[in-house]
Formats: sequence, C-alpha cells, structure tokens
Amino acid sequence: MFGLLKKIFGTEQSRRLKKYSKIVLSVNAWEVKFQSLSDDEIRHKTVEFRQRIENGETLDALLPEAYALVKNVCRRLCGTDVHVSGYDQKWDMIPYDVQILGAIAIHYGSICEMQTGEGKTLTASMPLYLNALSGKPTHLVTVNDYLVQRDCDWIGSVFRYLGLTVQALTNATPPYLRKSVYASDIVYGTASEFGFDYLRDNSMAQSLSDQSQRGYFFAIIDEVDSILIDEARTPLIISGPSSVSRQMYDELKDDVANLVRYQRDLCNRLATDARKILDRLGRLVEEAESRKLNKEEEIEEKEAFRKLWLVGKGTPQNKILKRLKENPHLRAEIEKWDTYYYGDTNKEEKAAALSELYIVVDERANEFELTDKGIQAWIGASQDQSKSDDFIMLDLGHEYAQIDGDPALDEQGKLQKKVALREEDAKRKERSHNLRQLLRAHLMMEKDVDYIVAEGKIVIIDENTGRPQPGRRFSDGLHQAIEAKEGVSIQGETQTYATITLQNYFRLYEKLSGMTGTALTEANEFKEIYKLDALAIPTHRGCKRKDDDDEIYMTEREKYNAILKEIQEIHKQGRPILIGTESVEVSEKLSRILKQNKLEHTVLNAKNHAHEAQIIADAGKMAAITVATNMAGRGTDIKLQPGAAQVGGLHVIGTTRHQSRRIDRQLRGRSARLGDPGSSKFFVSFEDSLMRLFTSPGITGFLQRFRPPEGEPIKAKVLNKSIETAQKRVEQRNYTMRKHTLEYDDVMNKQRAEIYSFRNEVLACQNTLALAEEILDSVCTQISEQFFVDRNQENGWNPQGYGLWLMSHFPLTFDEKTFDNDYLSLEQIQEIASEKVLKSFKLKIDHELQTIRDVHSTAQRKENLLSPDDIINEVIRSLLIRNIDRLWQEHLQHIDHLRSEVHLRAIGQKDPLVEFKHEAFTLFDQLTLRIKQEIAHALFKFEMLPPQAAPAAQPKRIEEARKPIERVQYRTSLSLITELENTSSSKEDPDNALSKT
Ligand code: ADP
Repeated sequence: MFGLLKKIFGTEQSRRLKKYSKIVLSVNAWEVKFQSLSDDEIRHKTVEFRQRIENGETLDALLPEAYALVKNVCRRLCGTDVHVSGYDQKWDMIPYDVQILGAIAIHYGSICEMQTGEGKTLTASMPLYLNALSGKPTHLVTVNDYLVQRDCDWIGSVFRYLGLTVQALTNATPPYLRKSVYASDIVYGTASEFGFDYLRDNSMAQSLSDQSQRGYFFAIIDEVDSILIDEARTPLIISGPSSVSRQMYDELKDDVANLVRYQRDLCNRLATDARKILDRLGRLVEEAESRKLNKEEEIEEKEAFRKLWLVGKGTPQNKILKRLKENPHLRAEIEKWDTYYYGDTNKEEKAAALSELYIVVDERANEFELTDKGIQAWIGASQDQSKSDDFIMLDLGHEYAQIDGDPALDEQGKLQKKVALREEDAKRKERSHNLRQLLRAHLMMEKDVDYIVAEGKIVIIDENTGRPQPGRRFSDGLHQAIEAKEGVSIQGETQTYATITLQNYFRLYEKLSGMTGTALTEANEFKEIYKLDALAIPTHRGCKRKDDDDEIYMTEREKYNAILKEIQEIHKQGRPILIGTESVEVSEKLSRILKQNKLEHTVLNAKNHAHEAQIIADAGKMAAITVATNMAGRGTDIKLQPGAAQVGGLHVIGTTRHQSRRIDRQLRGRSARLGDPGSSKFFVSFEDSLMRLFTSPGITGFLQRFRPPEGEPIKAKVLNKSIETAQKRVEQRNYTMRKHTLEYDDVMNKQRAEIYSFRNEVLACQNTLALAEEILDSVCTQISEQFFVDRNQENGWNPQGYGLWLMSHFPLTFDEKTFDNDYLSLEQIQEIASEKVLKSFKLKIDHELQTIRDVHSTAQRKENLLSPDDIINEVIRSLLIRNIDRLWQEHLQHIDHLRSEVHLRAIGQKDPLVEFKHEAFTLFDQLTLRIKQEIAHALFKFEMLPPQAAPAAQPKRIEEARKPIERVQYRTSLSLITELENTSSSKEDPDNALSKT
C-alpha cells in the first residue's frame, strides 16, 4: 500500500517538476535575449517591470523575464569583486537550471528540498527579486546573524545592480535603524528578529513612528525545517522583571535534593539485593539457564525481577539495572512484570508496588509523580510546618462562599479575608510549582546533555543542533530550578509582556515558502499546518555517497568497540572521518576512547564551539578525525582537502540514531558534497535511549532468540525496520506536541490579533479625544446592562445601584431619583448617564487645556511648542495605550496560569484544550470590558503638571515611553525571551504585576 502511495506522491512531484521545467526553458530563452542588452538597458528593466505590474501584469506572468534578468546580471557580475564579511570575493555564479527550477517552486509557495551545497542562497535571489518588484515587504529568513549579513552582502550585489534596496536585520541592528531596514525592498534577517520586532511594534510602540515593520507579503525561510519544526515549540517572549516575586527555589532546593537522594539510595538497595539473589540462584551466568529452581527459589527469583522492575520505575538510568539488562534473558524477565502490571486486573497490585517508591518516573512521557510515601517523606524531612500544605490546594470558590455567608463580617472584613485568602492561594501554588520544577530539574534534566554549566551559568544545549544557547532560558521557572540544583546563582522572576510562536508569526505572511536539505520526512506537517507543499529538486551533479546499512549491537559497550574498529580501519586508508554524537557527554566519552587508543582527533561540541570554523576547515584533511555533536549537522560545509577525494572522501559515522530521521540525514549530508566521493554508516545499540524507549516490546523476545556472540552485530533486516518505526513514533509524538502548542497558541492568536488591532487603531487615531468619548459612552451603556435587566423581576431593576456605580467611578453626583422613574426606557437612562459623564469629561479636559496654555504663556521659546489640543491628544493616546498594555499583560498571565491548571483537570476526564478554549474566551470577554472600564476611570484621573524644566512642554510620560528600549536578549528552549529592563509600565503601576503561580 505504501508503494502505491509513494507512486502517487512521486507522480505528483514529477508532474510539478515537469511543469516548472518548461518555465526554466522560457527563462533561459529570455536570458539569451538579454545578453545583447547594454548594462544600462538591463538596469532599466526594474523600472519597466514595476510599471508593468502597476498596469496590472501579475508576478506569475513576469516570472520568466524577471528570473532571466537575475541570471543575466549574475553573468555580468562574474569576475567582479564583492565585499563580503570583511573580504573581497570574486563573483563566479550563474544559476544552474536546477536552481532556476527551485526558484520557480519557491515563488509558487513550495518548500524546496535541495541538498547541501546545491546553492540555495543563489536560488533564493530570483523569487526575492520578482516578489520585491511588487513593492510589498519581501523577507528572507535565515538561521543566524552571520548568514544574514553574509548573504545580504553577497547576493545583495545582484539586487543593488538592479536598483533594489536590500538590508540585513541582525541582533546588532539598533532599534532606531530598524524602520529604515524594513523600508528596503528586500530584508535578510533571522526569525527571532522578525518575530520580536512584530511583538515590539504591537506591544511596546507608543506611536506609529515607533513601529518598524511595514507588513508581511512574502517570506522565504531558509532551513525551513529548523525554524518551523525544531523551533516550533519555542515561543518568542518579551518579558520584564516581575514586581512581586514569590519564588522559593533557594528555600526548597536542599529538601528536594534530599528527597531525590532517598529515592536513589532506595533503588540502589533494591537493585543490589536483586542482583545478589539472582547471583546466588546462578542466574547471572548465561549458560546457567538450565538449572532447575525449587519452588521457594522460584518465588525468590520472581521477587528479584519485580524489584528490578521497580528500580526501572524509580531510577530508569540505574547502573546495576542497565548492566543486568544487557542480558536479554534477564531483560525479558524484568519486562514480564510490565506486561503483568499492564492488565486491568492487576492495577491495584501495581499501585501497591509503586507505592514503595518515593517518586514514580515515566521516562518515556517525560513525567513523574510523587507517591504518598514521597509526600510523607517531604513533609517529614523538616520541621517546616507549611510543608504539610504543599499538596493541598485551596478551593477558592468554596472558601469565598463561606466568607460571604459569614454574618460576623462586614463588607470590608470580607474583602480583607478574601484578599488574604488569595495571597495564601497564590503562595501555595507557587510553592508547589517550584517544587515540581525542582524535581523536574533533578529527575529529567541532565548535565552535559540538556545543559552545561559555564562560568557560573546554566547554558542550554539545543537538542537539535547541539549548540550552546547562551542567553536562552528554560521557561516557567525550570531554568531557576536547574540553577538551584547546580548551586549557581538563581535569577529573578520575570513577567511576560508579549508572546507569539514562530508558527503564528509566519502565518501573517500572504505568501510563504522555504528551502532546506531535508524536507520530505516532514512533508505532511508542512502541508497540514502551513499549507506548503514540499518538492525535491534534483541535484546539479549526482550524489556519489555510499550509505551503509546500520550496525546494531546489544550493548553500548559492544557498539563503541565496533565504532573504534571502524575508525581504525578507515583511518588507515587516510580518509577523513566525521563522527556524529548525540550529546556533549558522548562526544567526550568517545574522545577518551580515541585518546586511549592513541588516535589523534578534534572535538567539536557546545563547550569549544569558539574554534568551530577552524575545526570544520580542518575536518576535510587527509586522515583527520573529528568528533562532533549535532553542531556539525547544519550549514557546515566540510570541504575535502587535497588528496582526500582520491582515497575515498569523507566517511561519516553516526554513533546512534537520532530521534528524528531528518537530523540523521543532515549528518549524512556532510559527506559527498558537490559530486565528491564519500560514505556513511550508523551504529546503534539496544541501550540507546531511542531503542530503549520507543521500540516495540516484541523486540526483546526477538533478541532473546537471536542474541549474537559478544561483539558481533545483529544482522536482521527486521531491525532496520524497527529502528525506523521507533523514529517515526518519536517524530509523530513530537509532531503532536508541536500541534498542541499551536492549538493553544491559536486561541491566543485570535485574542492577540484583536487586541493588537485595537491598539494599532489607537496609535493611528487622529482624534483620541473623540475615541475617549466613545469609550465613556459605551461604558455607561455596558454597565447599565448589569443594573437593569428586567423591570418586572425582583432585583432586576436597580436605579440606585447604577447611580452609585457612576458616582463611585466618575467625579459626578446624581440625584437619587434620576434613574428611578417608571417612564424612562433603558435607552433614555443610558443617554442621561452618558450625557452627564461626557459633560463632566469636557470640563475636565478644558481644565487641563487651560493648564497647558498657562504653561505655554510663560515659556520663553514658543516655536517648538505643540498646540494644547495636540498635547491632550497625545496624553490620551498614551493613557489608552498604557491601560491596554497593562491589562493585556495581566491577561497573558492569567492565560499562563490557566494553561497549567487545565492540565490538572485532564485527570477529571475533561479535554484540557476544550476547557482552555472555553475559559480563555470568558477571560477575554472580561478583559475587553475591563479595558474600557479602566480607561474610563483613568480618563478622569490624569493631571497635567507644569514641567520642572521650562522649555519642553511635552508631557513626561510620553517621553519616557519613547525611550529606546534597552534589552538583554535571552532564549529558552521552551520560550524565546527578550528581557526588558524596567519598562515604564511596570515601574509606574505597582498593582500591575500579579504573582506568578
Ligand atoms: P546550500 O545552502 O544549498 O548548502 P550554498 O548556497 O551555501 O549551498 O552554496 C554552496 C556552494 O556552491 C557555495 O560555495 C556557492 O558559491 C556555490 N554555488 C552555488 N551556486 C553556484 C553556481 N550556480 N555556480 C557556481 N557555484 C555555485
């Protein structure tokens, strides 16, 4: 069946390739014509094309000529010097037909799969030129600042020749220049810079002129799988210091470390006991299988295996357990307990067994749970009374009802009690949250795998690229928890100001497309989420790499021995070797093995990435051995040095299969670039985490029968399949997780779009005074609906209440009888209220205008003064913006809490996503109402003060808000964070920050 699907897929692909190939012919024909034009005539083409577009010609129709023009300019540039990254480089490229083919696919919104070295950078130039002719924003998104600058300099020479402007957007681009960068026809930038500018424009800008972007028309994403797939779970977050901090990592860390130690000791004891018993029963020698056990011994043996099973649930990485599991018979016996406990009938028995542990760890789901015993140990570990409350959450609804029903309390007393209760609730939630994150840091996060400790800081290692991510932080307190675990200084708590996922950012574009060396494995996802088709473009020259079958071993030990042997053999032939490893830890381990065997080599990992360029440059030398993490996977171009091609080129060794097939393909792709010779081979063991966690249970039985002699690989085709199935399983799981992130963000996306568009309306508004009046009027109406529901219903008509509300929110007085009149319709009531509020507002504004005029009259220099009306207009704008921002930030925090809370409800058989959507919707409704109310309130509360220093009549607040935002960027693997230093809003409104729980 798959064969059939493949065929359909294949024809679909070839059909499109065929169609585009015809266009390539037309491009080439045009290019021949262009060869006879003068340089000036070529340059003038841009003007002509733009004119034709203005006259209604489509970009599609223009494509062959535009692409031909780019190709022709490349021809003309040949031999000229281009200044790139500090050096002069000679231009020597004219697009090959396959590049033109890719360029056509990109214009039509495809993701092009082009192998490394095929020249994606040049390919992108054609669609960029064509689409920029429209005058609309055209962006090229690439993975790092270095490539942004390099490609902008290098390929930019074509655009500049043709009279288009092109600029680079990097982390180093200062805020005041960004607007002019975006104004150019084509912008090269990184995904995070584009995304952060979007957030800043929509949540920080205080005026239209503060906004830098000018829309989203066409984007080409280079290494599109890295950005839309690997980074997809990493939302961008702008955050600032939280004004209230409750975090308790310092206070809790020792007790958590103790608890984790209890568990480790317990499991060690269990494992040692079990091993002793098995040893005594002669179960540890392979051939002893035949020995017959008596009844008692059988029970003992069974119990020993059960203990080992338990160790696997408590400390899956336990060394004794790992060692015992190398023997497939023992492994099978242990796994029998899994099957036994899996059944419904043995559920209780399983629970009883697990209750021996303190913590149950589920490595596969990346989760853990404290048992009752764990909770008791936690409470008992110190005299701290509050700990007994750590696992009891308050039922606020119930508690509030009790307070409300307490006759002994007056209104004030009730309010106080509720505030205290809320505070207590927030504290408990924070404590239990901190506790969970500390446990996660200990149980799930591994040093030198997930992060390294460098210069007293926790530095995340990107799981896909193996690169250190200084400045990035794990979100939601996990980073602080790891800091506590490793005993380095713990950072303060932060608060989210604005956030978006990269996926949703890129969905803003009218047209999206991408390029990568590896797209087809994720083709479905691109299609489903972004409506993008993936298309494999043939290579310019054929690929000569020889990919060997995987070698599969029982144990890691045997696997490493085999790898060593392979290295020694290939090394003797003088071929360069690149060895890919999954973590810093493994790269160091392998390096030790090589050292012991006197094999000279270089290591490239997150700890010594400073020498990356040199290491990569040397990696193609004769007999070079390079051990690298996934860092060597993407964008690194290993060029064969003299002689290396003759002996067979680069040999790539994979030391395990990665969770994603794409990453494996990237590693393979380092070898045999541009028609060079080369080969690759992967080594796998059944102790690799992929195999341990994701292969099907049947495999153990299979191994039991086919265990080869020590040191020999297992030769069975079925295993290759089972590895691939495991990888597919993980890919599927990760896909689900990304989709999940997106589904949650989709809810936010709608709300964000609504708030941002309202905010932009305020920024663009010429007459904010009129807008303010509209808001006041609508608040009067909205509030009235709460007090006047139904005249004929008891408590359904409350004129006094309405009057009181208005008086308490605005500086007004109403006669008791104003609204208490049977002849007044609701509309009339609203009108009376609104009229009065607006009249009072006008008085207020007149008063403020007078203040400004007074100040102006005393000013010495009058030429630069804004008119009083303009000043009021700006003051109101800033007031509106500040209130929108403040309440939106609060809302973001509520949503954050909601997200973590709904997951607890999953236990109650409710779909957390449905719950989330429902409640987020309600919260948003409340938010829009609150924004209006608080704005209405604030409109009466501001006051113009004569400035301290005479000349500037501008209100201080606006100036402050316009200050360029200073920022320290930092990212987390779960969220990408830009931290702002004390923005004005958090400084001025102490009630702004809610606690984070
Ligand atoms: P990719 O990103 O696809 O791996 P690059 O854009 O980095 O590839 O290009 C790889 C190499 O091929 C570069 O050295 C580039 O100069 C060269 N190259 C690309 N296209 C051409 C061309 N049409 N003619 C000559 N050299 C080219």
